[in-house]
Amino acid sequence: MTICIDMGATEIKVAPIKRSENRLIVGELNKFPTNASLGKEGIVDALYRAISSLNGEDATGIAIASAGDIDVNTSTITYATENLPGMIGFDFALFCKEKFNLPAKAINDAHAALLGEMVYGAGAEYQDKRVVMLTLGSGVGGGYYAGGEIVSNEENDYGRFGHICLEKDGRLCTCGKRGCVEMYLSGRSIHRDAQALSIDGGDIFEKYGRGEPKNVEFVNVLRENLKKSLDLIMQVSPFDVCIIGGGVADWMEEHFYSITDSLGYKIIRASLGNSAGFYGAYAHYNRG
Ligand SMILES: [Zn+2]
Repeated sequence: MTICIDMGATEIKVAPIKRSENRLIVGELNKFPTNASLGKEGIVDALYRAISSLNGEDATGIAIASAGDIDVNTSTITYATENLPGMIGFDFALFCKEKFNLPAKAINDAHAALLGEMVYGAGAEYQDKRVVMLTLGSGVGGGYYAGGEIVSNEENDYGRFGHICLEKDGRLCTCGKRGCVEMYLSGRSIHRDAQALSIDGGDIFEKYGRGEPKNVEFVNVLRENLKKSLDLIMQVSPFDVCIIGGGVADWMEEHFYSITDSLGYKIIRASLGNSAGFYGAYAHYNRG
């Protein structure tokens, strides 16, 4: 059994994955708050509790997908925004060896989600194509797949599409720059924008589907921002297919395709949902 971790800015998810013939069996999923407001100590403690929550008796290793840029060779966080304060330099492999005496491998969470989708999910039939993935969660993660693999550099920070500048002199982002895609398309940003217009966050897309004018207008702005983001991504990482995942894709529910269909790109919805990070971390861990 491999212990799989998906560490984001708001929660750390953990589940065991077993292989049975050609199928992966994802066991019971546990969630813990990341405690990012408590800084590094709080986050590391939450990680420890997450891993400890599983009966690790037959565990052979730990596969981690994490927010931030991860050096896949050393499983170390090389860059993180204030979403994961104090975590730059954190060595997952060393931590797991010291605390659990298990080998570990870590990969950026957005790259993991893309890898998971390409191997086990919506991307499986596009393995010969160039694929971009946007994970619209608390932040906006990106990944790029071409030539049969995740495109990456040494520090594994390729495809940080969430921090492409969408709006010159726009909103201040957690990365320190202004106008990043993440400030317009992340779940957090969408919630905040809706709130500012007195639109109820819970059923934004449901009401859009029912033709509520305020919601239709709101979603049209969102679509514009998505289209603009894809136009910019196309310039740096030309793609044939774009997979969209994360909490925002789930939030759109059955309206996903009516929102994304006419943007001029082949857009498909991620199919592994909340588990994409686990699948990708697992695939990365077992790639040798
Ligand atoms: Zn940014």
